[in-house]
Amino acid sequence: MPADALAQRLKALQGQLPPQARLLAVSKGQPAVRLREAVALGLRSFGESRLQEAQAKQVELADLEPLDWHFIGRLQANKARGVLRHFGTIHSVDGLALAERLQRIAAEEQLSPRLFFQVKLRSDPGKTGFEPGELERLWPRLRALEPLVPVGLMTIAPLGLEADQRFRLFQDCAALAATLGLGELSMGMSNDWPEAVRAGSTWVRIGSALFGART
Ligand SMILES: *Cc1c(COP(=O)(O)O)cnc(C)c1O
Repeated sequence: MPADALAQRLKALQGQLPPQARLLAVSKGQPAVRLREAVALGLRSFGESRLQEAQAKQVELADLEPLDWHFIGRLQANKARGVLRHFGTIHSVDGLALAERLQRIAAEEQLSPRLFFQVKLRSDPGKTGFEPGELERLWPRLRALEPLVPVGLMTIAPLGLEADQRFRLFQDCAALAATLGLGELSMGMSNDWPEAVRAGSTWVRIGSALFGART
């Protein structure tokens, strides 16, 4: 996709997003040169799902102003330290053991990343995440993860839902976050961000609708 198409898609998207919904440009599968174009258009927050891929881009883009890197992929325990070193926000904390590991390593590394807990609100065999009841039960432990900074919930709608079903799922996520006193909601991707925004999303994670198909 040529650079001017990126500019047009970005402008159209920004025109539709309400002020509380921030745009996380999901740059996985895109070469560093595409991110450079996006930065030139004013984007600073990028979502990546693989540590090594992100690290390579961070090296290539080291001459730019510091960027805001968000980890959105499944986080394997052996990648925890690398992810903490290379990302300021993690959207995919999907279990207590992982959260505690992140806490221990963040303390060692003197880092205070922002965390989203990933929740699974409908059955979805391909996805991980806390069940809502489990999250509420573990909450006394999860809320006290210093030096980690829990900020919100993240969810991914299963494929195959109708728009109104997705909207209700995102509303459920927003209600759960409110119960826990969490203000941020990482919800909505290229195909479902309008419903997520209607339900109160504060971070939409958009890849293909911005950059085109991934390579
Ligand atoms: C890839 C990915 C996205 C972006 O997906 P698009 O459909 O390209 O917008 C958002 N969130 C997560 C967790 C992803 O893995």
